[in-house]
Amino acid sequence: MKLLLIGLDGVRLDIAVPAAMTAHPGFAEPDHPADPRFAAGPRPEDAPDMPEPTDQPAAPTLERLWRGGAILPVWMTPPTDSGPGWSALLTGTGHEQNNVWWNEFVGHRLARTPDLLTRIWAANPQARTYAAASWDALVDPGGPGPAIQQRPDQQVGGQHQIFHAPDTTDGVAAADRRVTAHATWVLNHEGPDAAFVYIGGVDEAGHDHGAASPHYREAISTADEHVRRLVKAVSERYEQLGEEWLIAVTTDHGHKPEGGHGDDEVDVRRSFLVLHRVGPDRADGWARDAVADRGPLRAEQVAPLLLDLLGVRVGSWDPAHPVGERTDIPSVGPTRDLRYEW
Ligand SMILES: [Zn+2]
Repeated sequence: MKLLLIGLDGVRLDIAVPAAMTAHPGFAEPDHPADPRFAAGPRPEDAPDMPEPTDQPAAPTLERLWRGGAILPVWMTPPTDSGPGWSALLTGTGHEQNNVWWNEFVGHRLARTPDLLTRIWAANPQARTYAAASWDALVDPGGPGPAIQQRPDQQVGGQHQIFHAPDTTDGVAAADRRVTAHATWVLNHEGPDAAFVYIGGVDEAGHDHGAASPHYREAISTADEHVRRLVKAVSERYEQLGEEWLIAVTTDHGHKPEGGHGDDEVDVRRSFLVLHRVGPDRADGWARDAVADRGPLRAEQVAPLLLDLLGVRVGSWDPAHPVGERTDIPSVGPTRDLRYEW
């Protein structure tokens, strides 16, 4: 089974797929406390209220994926900025391990906390992988990350492809269209073993207009249409080749009614993981059965779960060997112990 992981930045599930909010009791409140350093300040007096709840999903494709698959709550650990969020989701490590706390990525350890695609490749160096994004922190070696490792040796032969749409002068939503166009082509014609596609337009609308705005809801619908095209690209491969795919969709945080994120509000910390298997009819209940006793998840548990569902086993060293530890020796010179004189 191949993997298509779609990352939608800054999506609130109560707008995207309101019916899914009651599907799992774990969506009600966070499963773990937040560090008080990242507590939200007082709500501004002029902050708008969210619109009246509606049953109508802004993301009908996401709803269809969920109804034919499964959804799990995911709780982000503040700070709920995009850098730490995507680093945790993609690498399966927390802020302390990968040392990504803000969008500056200062002092990050992403070389030692490889992303999901790199782990899949490490498990079998034949694997072909693909990543597409507009945000440089995810894919550009000249950016502050990147969270997705470059692996130039694999890029030479097209075994690892990275598509970066850096031009956001017409908005992130315009760059999303280029990302989706490239991704649908590669998914449809090449069918990499594992792919990550990032859509950033919802976060842009959240910052510009707030989650209470019609613009935010429209941006979710636009992102959902990108999701539909990506799913269609791999569904055609199942139809013609019988190639099975695991579709996974997640987000890194919500948005405040007035816009913004980064702190510990419940609506900002709430994320989700939609899982859907594209395969024969019996695949419909597969995702539901596969994760029936799972969740809520923390962000760093998403990548390990996906690897598990794919059956990817990452190798390990003898547990007694402290891999990667660096310890200097005292500068005392030779001891004259002949056992160690060579
Ligand atoms: Zn974000």
